[in-house]
Amino acid sequence: MTPLELLRKDGSELFIEAQSIAKKRKSLFATGLQINTICRIHPPCRHCLWFTRERYTPNFRRKVPLDQIVKQAKEAKRQEIDRIYLASGWMGKDLSDDVYEAVIAIKEQVDIDLYGMFGTINQRSLLRLQKAGIDGYRCSLESPNPDLFNYLKPGDSLDNRIETLKSAKEIGLPIWSEFIIGVGENDQDIVNGIEMLKKLEVNTFLFVPFRPVPFIEMEERSGPNPYQMAKVMAAARIFIPDADMFAVYNNMEWGYRAGCNGAFVSTYPNNVTRFREMREMLNESYPGKTG
Ligand code: SF4
Repeated sequence: MTPLELLRKDGSELFIEAQSIAKKRKSLFATGLQINTICRIHPPCRHCLWFTRERYTPNFRRKVPLDQIVKQAKEAKRQEIDRIYLASGWMGKDLSDDVYEAVIAIKEQVDIDLYGMFGTINQRSLLRLQKAGIDGYRCSLESPNPDLFNYLKPGDSLDNRIETLKSAKEIGLPIWSEFIIGVGENDQDIVNGIEMLKKLEVNTFLFVPFRPVPFIEMEERSGPNPYQMAKVMAAARIFIPDADMFAVYNNMEWGYRAGCNGAFVSTYPNNVTRFREMREMLNESYPGKTG
């Protein structure tokens, strides 16, 4: 069946078929670790969650010390998380040495699947990551519609991202990609996106619901309809049965129903101290959106 035919099916029927595929796949848990929270992309992305986080986190834009990164990786392992993606803001197509140092340090000390997520990078960087011990590369395609991609990420291009994934695949790294749902795409865009993921032979994929959060340029927009989004996930699950499908931690109810076998897990504790800190941070900053 084509993705379009799948999307036209009744949701309940689609979910049952998607779950029967998911049942055969191992349950996976992943979390992200930041190397830094500094980004060189220009202009900045219109949906970047970091514009929210920097309003609520003291000293948010910074390099994370190596010992802290390794400590977090050990904590992820302790919590029985299977996979870490090591991420940063965009540093350019050539990565800086501290990225490779972090990969080597984690792989030496923690037995865990480690993916890189550094946006558009060149094959030289991918080869160096592979030599350092990385297990795979994650690069989001954001939207299969190039115009929507350019709206979300005016500092990058869909072609750059496809090229990065293809380069990673070429050198033998498993690849992981995703689309954001609810940013103005139509049915044909969704069909194209599902077909694109299959053609790229992604090993892992996910769909991320657009979440309007404060201080981003798109804060006034709505998120997607959760049921319709679950149908997209289920259709992709059926069309691409040989890859792992993840859902984000706040969409797991729908994610598992739609045939995901992977879940994002946060190791960050949500406690009273944290909420106090958020209020204090906001009171110290000024009202507005990005920047
Ligand atoms: S590349 Fe875009 S989404 Fe990623 S950190 Fe930079 S501004 Fe944010």
